[in-house]
Amino acid sequence: MSTFPLSSSPRVRDAIRHEGARRRHLVVLERTGLTDTLVRFTFGGDLEGFASLGPEDHVKAFFAGPEGIVGRDYTPAEYRPIGASSGPELDVDVVVHGDAGPATAWASRAGRGDELEIAGPRGSRLAPTGFANALLLADPAGMPALRRWIRALAGVLPVHAVLFGNDTRLVDHLDPAEAFAATPQLAPTADFDLLDVVRSQDVTADTFVWAAGEAGALIPVRRWLKQEAGLPKPNLSLHGYWKAGVAGLDHHAPLDPADPD
Ligand SMILES: Cc1cc2nc3c(=O)[nH]c(=O)nc-3n(C[C@H](O)[C@H](O)[C@H](O)COP(=O)(O)OP(=O)(O)OC[C@H]3O[C@@H](n4cnc5c(N)ncnc54)[C@H](O)[C@@H]3O)c2cc1C
Repeated sequence: MSTFPLSSSPRVRDAIRHEGARRRHLVVLERTGLTDTLVRFTFGGDLEGFASLGPEDHVKAFFAGPEGIVGRDYTPAEYRPIGASSGPELDVDVVVHGDAGPATAWASRAGRGDELEIAGPRGSRLAPTGFANALLLADPAGMPALRRWIRALAGVLPVHAVLFGNDTRLVDHLDPAEAFAATPQLAPTADFDLLDVVRSQDVTADTFVWAAGEAGALIPVRRWLKQEAGLPKPNLSLHGYWKAGVAGLDHHAPLDPADPD
């Protein structure tokens, strides 16, 4: 694909800092299976003043690991100041990927009454302005944020969602209005095929691309978007949410070590 000339519309992403990212003590009110891999935990408890305004906000959740307490990042899927329990409620959708990892080990067993500490979000980045359309890519770990992106952009920009990974029921994670707004497309799992699906999209200089999922699967996608489609930095927001074979991936590290910019 050739490089397109940039349009002159301003591209802005506002950021908001939240004060007091203290630890909050939460209790599971409900456990609900959503897809082959995603389980929803509805939490109640110390949620006073909780705020999550950006589609890719995350909280740090703390779990007991073999060498002590570790933190893992999760997206606040939905926050209700007053929920069905008559108190504040927070939904967090967690990929259960076996027992190899403190978070998945907790999630595979936890149910009503179990407790969890979280902190954050420390800040929120709002959806950008100045784009003509958006392409969203997510595997199961990125799905809670992808749903928030759809809700942030629906009615503002045309959105197309590509869902990848090993979860054949991933599309069930979208409610009918979200599925309608984002025309979801399930992509095959191999990296090459995900890249193929991305190459077949109508990506222009006015397309905003957000992606989250296994880091290795996103590296060729990022290279293609940067080098062949010619998209500059403000058009791209691609994040390794986890990496095959790596425990506790630092998501602040560059997605592509060969191209850290
Ligand atoms: C900003 C942000 C938001 C996130 N939001 C969510 C969310 O809402 N829901 C969610 O489920 N995850 C989310 N994640 C991903 C989650 O933080 C990681 O998957 C985390 O590594 C899980 O911790 P763990 O203790 O289960 O496994 P770890 O101890 O980190 O890893 C142990 C092993 O499990 C593998 N592994 C880790 N995650 C997965 C996975 N998803 N699928 C298959 N294998 C895996 C690793 O490669 C490693 O081999 C988010 C990550 C970031 C950075």
